[in-house]
Amino acid sequence: MKTDSVKPDIRSLTQEELQRHFALWQEPAYRVAQLLTWLYARRAAHWDEMTNLPKALRARLRETFALRWPELARRQGARDTTQKFLWRLADGALIESVLIPASPSLYGEPSDRHTLCISTQVGCAYGCKFCASGLDGWKRHLLPDEIVNQVLAVERAEAGAGARLINNVVVMGMGEPLANYDNLLRALRILNAPWGGEIGARKITVSTSGLAPQIRQLAAEPLQFRLAISLHGATDKTRSKIMPVNHKYPLKELTAACDFYLRKKGRMITLEYILIAGINDAPPQALPLARLARHLRAKVNLIPYNDVQGLPWRRPDDPVQDAFLAALEREGVSATLRREKGGDIDAACGQLRLKTERELAR
Ligand code: SAH
Ligand code: SF4
Repeated sequence: MKTDSVKPDIRSLTQEELQRHFALWQEPAYRVAQLLTWLYARRAAHWDEMTNLPKALRARLRETFALRWPELARRQGARDTTQKFLWRLADGALIESVLIPASPSLYGEPSDRHTLCISTQVGCAYGCKFCASGLDGWKRHLLPDEIVNQVLAVERAEAGAGARLINNVVVMGMGEPLANYDNLLRALRILNAPWGGEIGARKITVSTSGLAPQIRQLAAEPLQFRLAISLHGATDKTRSKIMPVNHKYPLKELTAACDFYLRKKGRMITLEYILIAGINDAPPQALPLARLARHLRAKVNLIPYNDVQGLPWRRPDDPVQDAFLAALEREGVSATLRREKGGDIDAACGQLRLKTERELAR
């Protein structure tokens, strides 16, 4: 029998692929539907839970596929009930997901119940100067099932085996999602499918540090995911100072890719802008940002920087944040200032993992 580490995980397959396997095995088609119910509606963690599948079929599935489930390594809850989950994967790698309760001003509509922020890589290769995720470099891509399972495992932990909890997903955890394009897209298709996660494509936001070629590739996909750009600087000078990716894809190229995305998709882009004291928070710096936002007809999300232990960057005081917002609004740009929920539990990108890795190293 193959060991689990070389078998593909069953949650990385689409319905169509499973149907092909079942046809080869001469299993009736309705068995696929039963299996999918166990995997995605009931969020089964073991083959033995699938009691309405014949034993012989379960044995065959077990022989062919892995059914991996992340182990909860650590969990933290903030006062406002933002929950942070740190998962240990089969190879011992640590990744994190953050559950954020209903917040109409975030990415979706007022009816949102819960948003889950998910990771797509272990570490990150892009090395933005302010970010905890990139501090130890890049380790590996997450597999499709490791991306999908963050949603399922949080739902299982929070809502039990039956009820749905998460109806909004933001791909803003550890890693650069568009650098893991194929696994990301496969995972998002599974999360979106009516037989899978049943999360509307418009309720799934992909955030990127600005990989221009992959933004164009995403524009050509049939599914209507939302796109957020981590801008953080509206001139090449400021952006290059804190985001090395800007040397590879400077603003002109990034803007052209966003233009292409808009033309293809007709969907609004969000510009993410973390406010870092003394770097990008002076009111005059709001002007090039406003120009870009107007050009892209984009909404701006201002996010006060979450201090990272060991890094020199600081969050500006509230009045500075408010003045930057006011400067944008004077320029006729639609903007929100999101005073980070869960800041007190290291909710930003990669921070809990970093802390845990450091504690383990000591
Ligand atoms: N790699 C992707 C997605 C993950 S990062 C990207 O960069 O877009 C998700 C968001 O968190 C990005 O906008 C990132 O710039 C921001 N971020 C990273 N570290 C942060 C911190 N310490 N405080 C606030 N936001 C942070
Ligand atoms: Fe990577 Fe995004 Fe962090 Fe930059 S902000 S290092 S791209 S995770």
